[in-house]
Amino acid sequence: MAKIPHRVILTEDQMPKQWYNLRADMKEQPDPLLNPGTMKPVRTEELYPIFCEELAQQEMDSTTRYFDIPEPVLDIYKMYRPSPLCRAYHLEKYLDTPAHIYYKFEGSNTSGSHKLNSAVAQAYYAKKQGLTSLTTETGAGQWGTALSEACSYFGLDLDVFMVKGSYNQKPYRKAVMQTFGANVVASPSDTTKVGRAILETNPDTSGSLGCAISEAIEKATTTPNCRYVLGSVLNQVLLHQSIIGLESKIAMEMIGEYPDIIIGCAGGGSNLGGLIAPFMQDKLTGKANPHFIAVEPASCPSLTRGRYAYDFCDTGRVTPLAKMYTLGCGFIPSPNHAGGLRYHGMSPILSKLYHDGYLDEARSAEQTKVFDAAVLFAKLETILPAPESSHAIRCAIDEAIRCRESGEQKTILFGLTGTGYFDMTAYQSYHDHTMNDYIPTDEELEKGFASLPQVEG
Ligand SMILES: *Cc1c(COP(=O)(O)O)cnc(C)c1O
Repeated sequence: MAKIPHRVILTEDQMPKQWYNLRADMKEQPDPLLNPGTMKPVRTEELYPIFCEELAQQEMDSTTRYFDIPEPVLDIYKMYRPSPLCRAYHLEKYLDTPAHIYYKFEGSNTSGSHKLNSAVAQAYYAKKQGLTSLTTETGAGQWGTALSEACSYFGLDLDVFMVKGSYNQKPYRKAVMQTFGANVVASPSDTTKVGRAILETNPDTSGSLGCAISEAIEKATTTPNCRYVLGSVLNQVLLHQSIIGLESKIAMEMIGEYPDIIIGCAGGGSNLGGLIAPFMQDKLTGKANPHFIAVEPASCPSLTRGRYAYDFCDTGRVTPLAKMYTLGCGFIPSPNHAGGLRYHGMSPILSKLYHDGYLDEARSAEQTKVFDAAVLFAKLETILPAPESSHAIRCAIDEAIRCRESGEQKTILFGLTGTGYFDMTAYQSYHDHTMNDYIPTDEELEKGFASLPQVEG
């Protein structure tokens, strides 16, 4: 048999023309979003003041299995997609494992991550509706960069509330966003009511995604012709990210392999949800039974130590409530270099699949072990991985070592969500041995759980 190439890249014609909505095949649906005022399930129209109408409709649609990707979105996708599916031959050899290791690499666009897949879609629908500006939050900066690119392409103004810790740590992220025309504000800021309130009780806070979301929503709802967009967690974002899994599945079919184990890092769940979507369809419909693993930081362990409960999606408690694995909307994780994985909650779709046993496993990893894997991967595969993505690398290496020990020849697929060029402070602290592996105590987690809203039933 011919040797499988290092990189499989589909042709433009082979690129999927539709997104796949995983909810259409779920046995049971995630619990509905609740209106925080009435505690009743949210109706689609109630989301219109916050989200674009078509995105609100996608958010609430659990029956349409496939959505056509609009032509203008496909046109932009074609500038950086299809993304490569790579075989990690060098890593396999180094580990002396019989496992086949594949990764889907989403870091070859300027945002340096998979986030552009949803940013382009969201900016497109906003433009189509005649809006003139958007607001959003960003943690590590990848989402803010992706949305800045998309907004500049479609001619929309953008305000980005960037978590203060990252803002200070990654000044060049800000410069990239400004290059695309975005206005970047460190959050919490004194430009919003909710930001000022958070600063009053916690003046030295390094911020959190939850705070930044509250500020971005306030700005959107107080600015005419403006809406808020979010880069993860939501059903619509998982829908757009299904392109990752759909491409991966076609590429794996072309080389005649099917993954036994599929691994993704999990912050809000969008890359993992997108990567596993068509493989989860196989599991739900009984066609195949791959083993899915979510990997999260030990410092922000929503799946492994969180509660499955209704919670706000933001710290300011203004969003609808979602039933999800959460550490509590008041939880602020200790500073951690994987900024994109510092969210208190988890996608309601993934939460439900995990709760019901379809998402098989969640693991947490400590920072230095994640960076051990990142550095090894960089040396062997010549890609400098993002700290977030390196959580998946850590787990893929652990699984490949397990195969070496058991002699099993498994096929492993993981999501390499992005590159780490703006994370050199993190790499530097790893090299200097100043990186800490802080894990929150049960008492600290209790404080977060105490912030969970009381919801009956
Ligand atoms: C944002 C981000 C993540 C985590 O977000 P998810 O929604 O969980 O996918 C992972 N990797 C990179 C590179 C990111 O930018």
